[in-house]
Parts: sequence; C-alpha cells; structure tokens
Amino acid sequence: MSTLDNNWFTEEFSSEGSAFSLKINKKLHEEQTPYQKLEMYDTETFGNLMVLDGCTMLTTRDNFLYHEMMSHIPLFSHDDPKKVVIIGGGDCGVLKEVLKHPGVEDVWQIDIDEAVTRASEKYFPELCESNDDPRAHLLWQDGIKWIKDAPAGSIDVLIIDSTDPVGPAEGLFAVDFYKDCHRALGENGVLVQQSESPLFHSGNIIKKIHSDLAEAGFESKHTFPFPQPIYPSGWWSCTLGKKQGEAKAFRQEAADSLAFETQYYTGEIHQAALALPAFMKRILQG
Ligand code: SAM
Repeated sequence: MSTLDNNWFTEEFSSEGSAFSLKINKKLHEEQTPYQKLEMYDTETFGNLMVLDGCTMLTTRDNFLYHEMMSHIPLFSHDDPKKVVIIGGGDCGVLKEVLKHPGVEDVWQIDIDEAVTRASEKYFPELCESNDDPRAHLLWQDGIKWIKDAPAGSIDVLIIDSTDPVGPAEGLFAVDFYKDCHRALGENGVLVQQSESPLFHSGNIIKKIHSDLAEAGFESKHTFPFPQPIYPSGWWSCTLGKKQGEAKAFRQEAADSLAFETQYYTGEIHQAALALPAFMKRILQG
C-alpha cells in the first residue's frame, strides 16, 4: 500500500511494521492498465520512480543494483549463454544488461503489460536504449503460458524479473511454472528469480523457491543477497537454479575482466554474494 502526503511518497510494508519514503517533486503519469495501476513520479533525489499497484519498482538512481545482479549473475553462471529469456522485466533494465554480453544471440522479453515498457521508454530512456538491438525480441504475453509453449531445451538462461508474488505474478512463484522452465531450458540451463527480501522473506518466499526448484528438478540452487535501497528492508535477493552442476560455480576469469562497463557488478561482487548470512544458512540449508 502507498500514500502521498505533503509530497512524500510512502510505501508501507504493514506486515513488517515498516515503510519507505521518497520526497516527490511531482507526479508525472498515472494509468490503470488492464493488469495494474502504473504511476511515475519525479523525486527530489532519486530521479524518476516507477510504482506498480502501490509498490516501488525502480528509480533512476538505484536500479543498477538490481538490474546488474539479475543479469550478470546468471549469465556468468552459464558456460556459454546464447539464448536468453526474460519473464517480466518490462522496464527493460535487465534487457539492456543482458545485451552487453557479446556472445548472446537472442533475448526474448515477455512482459504481460506493454504499458510498462511504453512508460519506461518515456521516463527511463537510458534503460531502453538497446531495445532496437536486432537480438532483442519484445513480446507482450503472459510469461507463464509463453514458457509452457516454449520448445524443450531451447533456452540457456531464464530470468524471472517479476513483480511481487501477487496478482499476475503469483503463478511465477510456483512449482508448476518452474517445471515448465526446467523443460524449456537446455541441459546446462540456468534460471534466476527475483526472490524478495532476505530479512523479511527468507523463512517463507525464499525457502519455498528453494524447495519448489528442487521439486521441479533443478540439481542445485543458491540465493544471492544484494542491497536495494528502495525495496522493503533495503536488502534484496535473487535465487538461481541450475539444471546440473553447482549453482555457485561461475566464469570468474571472464567476470574479473569485464569487457563492458557496470556500476555494481564485478567478479569480486559475484564472489562476495556467494556468502550467505548465518541465519539464511540455517533456514535454507537446514
Ligand atoms: N524490479 C521489479 C521489482 O521486483 O519490484 C520488477 C520489475 S518489472 C517492472 C516487473 C514486471 O513483471 C512488470 O512489468 C509486470 O507487468 C511483469 N509481470 C507480472 N506478472 C507477469 C506475468 N505473469 N507474465 C509476464 N510479465 C509479468
């Protein structure tokens, strides 16, 4: 739930008795799409802010943390990623990062809501600057159905850049969906899912993603925590599953000598994000 009071935008996390606020200069856009309420704000210090159904999605200032971890972690965890699929991701921030990898041949971005991308083109043009890359294929469909229909073994890396597990994204956090992902991935396939806050959600959402991935047939999985100031608790995570091999293994040499510019991701950051806090180890590794 969110409120706008005296030019402060506040997203409340009522179940956790906490909230996050940003000082707003003005509201730029408001629209009820067929799927969700989409708002854009001009903030005093974080650039533009996108909000879906009252939940903060991204700001100009801190989106690089999430987008770089959601893309470079899975891409460097695969031996030779060529075919990449993004489920959700309508703001195009992950797409831009994936396209930085020269070996990637095709990226399909499947977001249910075209309005998110149209608004992003206007208010986050820097994230959409690679949308005309001939390797990028932008589709507006339900990702759950799209994956069900995808040919078996056709995808190297699958990135689930979704909203929270409510509304149209609920089915993206479910064992049946992970089973369809497992079938669509090649034998060395890698899946990554945005997996909410380590502080608030380790014992429920993250733990369930781990058991669902195992049930769907993924041989190994690992959760990578990273900072994200605008999300609940300021601390976020992505969870990676590998069809075979160790989820923690990655192409460290290539990550250490990046051929493109990043703001957060490095080989050392990847290595550091492999370390789990003690409480998460107890919850996830039992
Ligand atoms: N980084 C963001 C976060 O975690 O708050 C998420 C970014 S992105 C804007 C999330 C996207 O997921 C939205 O554009 C939404 O339309 C899309 N989405 C939700 N459910 C979907 C589904 N079933 N299929 C495809 N896209 C979906």
